Amino acid sequence: MISVKINRTHYIEDINADMKGQEVILGGWVEDLRKMGKMTFLTLRDVTGITQIILTDDVMKSIDDITRQSVVRVTGKIQDTKARDFECEIKADEINVLAKAVHPLPIDPLGRLESHIDNRLNSRALDMRNQKTASIFKIRHHVLASLRKIFIEKKFTEITTPKIIGSASEGGANLFSLDYFGKQAYLAQSPQLYKEQMTIGLERVFEIASFYRAEKSHTGRHLSEFTSVDIEAAFMDYTDVMNVLEDLVLNTFKYVSENCKKEQEIIGNKITMPNGPFKKITYSQALEELNRKDAKLEFGDDLLDSHLRIIEENHPDFYFITDWPIKLKPFYIMEKEDNPELSESFDLQYGYLELSSGGSRLHNPEKIKIRLSEQNLDPAKFSEHLQAFDWGMPPHAGWGLGLERLLTVILGIDNVREVILYPRDPERLKP
Ligand code: ATP
Ligand code: MN
Repeated sequence: MISVKINRTHYIEDINADMKGQEVILGGWVEDLRKMGKMTFLTLRDVTGITQIILTDDVMKSIDDITRQSVVRVTGKIQDTKARDFECEIKADEINVLAKAVHPLPIDPLGRLESHIDNRLNSRALDMRNQKTASIFKIRHHVLASLRKIFIEKKFTEITTPKIIGSASEGGANLFSLDYFGKQAYLAQSPQLYKEQMTIGLERVFEIASFYRAEKSHTGRHLSEFTSVDIEAAFMDYTDVMNVLEDLVLNTFKYVSENCKKEQEIIGNKITMPNGPFKKITYSQALEELNRKDAKLEFGDDLLDSHLRIIEENHPDFYFITDWPIKLKPFYIMEKEDNPELSESFDLQYGYLELSSGGSRLHNPEKIKIRLSEQNLDPAKFSEHLQAFDWGMPPHAGWGLGLERLLTVILGIDNVREVILYPRDPERLKP
């Protein structure tokens, strides 16, 4: 390996047959090599695409021990090609190996040999050379871009709240604890209390960040570290924030289906636009549907995965389940005015899969204290949060949406581990 100046002149997607005769310098990875007579045909890939390089034996001599997936720099001229898959090709004048890939590689990055997801996750960087994997993460990038664009249009301000917290903000179940200079600290499971406080002053806030759940769940939808898309908005109630959520989902599907055509093709899955408006069923209607199908539930019972799979038979698409019993909801959720047993709350579902939970929040601190006590939480431990409610706390509502779960729906994939770089779950802490 020699050290050479890179001086890349073009991405592969930017060269075409109209540039015939032009000298270019490309950089990329060797995807394939075929020797035919006195020529070697090398396919070179960079992040934008793939092209064919023609090497004479003379040029090839300098790099005769080259392996697939090695990084090379190619200087050459654009010419017409006979190859069906390419628009033009490069006749190389010079090729340099910048980094050699050492074989055998742990997985086949071209995906011709299918690898178990664990092997792919163990070699994620190499897995990213698989165009399907790379496309998933390019789509993830576009989803994030779309979410931010829509939030900004709706006058939401992006915030970043602490992930290391000093007290168990929502009760303490499912929290990872850690030593913080001799004090007990936790990893935040959601930005809930901070985002509510920020409606004082910023009115509409959103955060897209990692949060942590110490649950021993082994499912395709649970991660110990997941990305939450959160909003909180002053002067809105649960109906208003359901509208924001529906708008966000529909527009994001649209954005991705328009902006990620190439990626959809590579993945082999065309994104299908969901239909709005999303159906709304109340918790009580969900119970009736279940009871008609002989899953006997009482008012106040939580809807478990098995129940949601039955409801999915009637509602395979997006829908809201609204008006949950107050006792199933956290202390900060507002009760319904006409029936305090119920709450102004909702889950957004895709079939059996919960994508988001939200609701109108209490903004009267006395009511919050009563609810805390009812849920066996000590109001004194929430004094720092509650003091903000004496500083002009507006009525507000919000929700949290799991980014990885949304991505599995957009992509038609059934495991959140496919859509996060290095998943954390009870079994997986490395790499
Ligand atoms: P579930 O009942 O499915 O475990 P939850 O009701 O505990 O979820 P919430 O506290 O309501 O989850 O969090 C809001 C959203 O964040 C969820 O609807 C989901 O999309 C996402 N989410 C929550 N926990 C996880 C997790 N462990 N892994 C991935 N996403 C999660
Ligand atoms: Mn929930």
